Amino acid sequence: MSYLDNILFAILLIAGFGFFATSVKKIIRNINLGVDVDRKDNPQARWANMALIALGQSKMVKRPVAGVLHIIVYLGFIIINIELLEIVIDGLFGTHRVFAFLGTAYNILIGSFEILALLVLVAVIVFWIRRNVIRLKRFINPDLNGFPKSDANYILYFEMILMTLFLLMNASDLHLQNVPGGFSHFHKAGSFPVSQFIAPIFNGMSNELVMLLTEIFWWLHIAGILVFMNYLYFSKHLHILLAFPNTYFADLRPKGQFDNLESVTKEVKLMMDPNADPFAAAPVDENAAPSKFGASDVQDLNWVQLLNAYTCTECGRCTSACPANQTGKKLSPRKIMMDTRDRLQEVGKNIDANKGVFVPDNKTLLNDYITPEELWACTSCNACVEECPVNISPLSIIMDMRRYLVMEQSAAPMSLNAMMTNIENNGAPWQYSQQDRLNWKNEN
Ligand code: SF4
Ligand code: SF4
Repeated sequence: MSYLDNILFAILLIAGFGFFATSVKKIIRNINLGVDVDRKDNPQARWANMALIALGQSKMVKRPVAGVLHIIVYLGFIIINIELLEIVIDGLFGTHRVFAFLGTAYNILIGSFEILALLVLVAVIVFWIRRNVIRLKRFINPDLNGFPKSDANYILYFEMILMTLFLLMNASDLHLQNVPGGFSHFHKAGSFPVSQFIAPIFNGMSNELVMLLTEIFWWLHIAGILVFMNYLYFSKHLHILLAFPNTYFADLRPKGQFDNLESVTKEVKLMMDPNADPFAAAPVDENAAPSKFGASDVQDLNWVQLLNAYTCTECGRCTSACPANQTGKKLSPRKIMMDTRDRLQEVGKNIDANKGVFVPDNKTLLNDYITPEELWACTSCNACVEECPVNISPLSIIMDMRRYLVMEQSAAPMSLNAMMTNIENNGAPWQYSQQDRLNWKNEN
């Protein structure tokens, strides 16, 4: 590599990481648009969750075929990228296989990278077949029409290309290492259990041509990694980074436990307790903005719900387990997460375009993205939460939006309104007084 190459490489690296840092800043800013929620409790359980679910992929293997293939791709992604360190040092300082001095350990490392790269290639091809040939139901669901479907395929193509380039780079390097008497700086280093079978394709080519090809593979490989890293911002693939904080900050309470609104709880307690002193309540701040019940837009959700939206992998496990979706209702918990993310991105772009301030755009998450029909189809069974491999809760968003419909707009379905009136008047969901509640046993 010439000095010019080293400088070009440094520029490419700075640009790649610079753009990525800008995207990360935007994601953090957008997540912070959410309402605060305290998730600092019980750090031990949180670390354990993260280790087990994000790192250990424990929920992925509930569906063994996809789970095992995913673990291969995930391990490949993490381990093969260790090689990135060597690539960066070689690129910046013009060295060649700078870690070769590790000897046997280096050979074992490169050998295992190659085997993993091959396994990743196979796993990614199987994933592609499941999506495009077998067409599993959760991958052809209308939620994924348009960009999300292409996005899933782009990621698979990216991974196929990166792994192929990695193996080709090694194969051409190996070819040059084996030139009798040595060639240029290609000294013997590494073991190549997979690319040794690819290397013969370079036989018959001049050494200069193979060297040029090695450099092309090398540049395309590193450029591909940087492009892939920057593509994450636009893709569902963000989960490879966000699964970790997402599982850490997930709700630790038992499923089915809902948040009570403090102000409403106080009111109810005052109503129920004849000895309560209504004037003992905290003084009211006349200047405070009136609190809004529930959520109609992304800024009303809490920051963990917004983090959930960015983390969603669009795998559809939630939707395939959702009884409402299975029985033909309009609801898809995956779509709830995708819509939340889309709206959050839209709000973020609005802020960027208006010098850091959100200018109302006459749109909201409710109605423009998620309809009341979808929200009311939910049975609140928690199947989606249970199924999600990264501990996302579409249900919590559904509930907050329903709360808005009921408490801010009195827009509950008629059957619910009747039930709530009965609870208010009779202390029970039925249309008769409490004294008559055991009458049913006298009937027959
Ligand atoms: S909680 Fe609602 S959205 Fe989730 S699986 Fe059950 S019905 Fe579907
Ligand atoms: S919410 Fe979870 S289960 Fe549903 S699509 Fe997203 S990642 Fe998959």
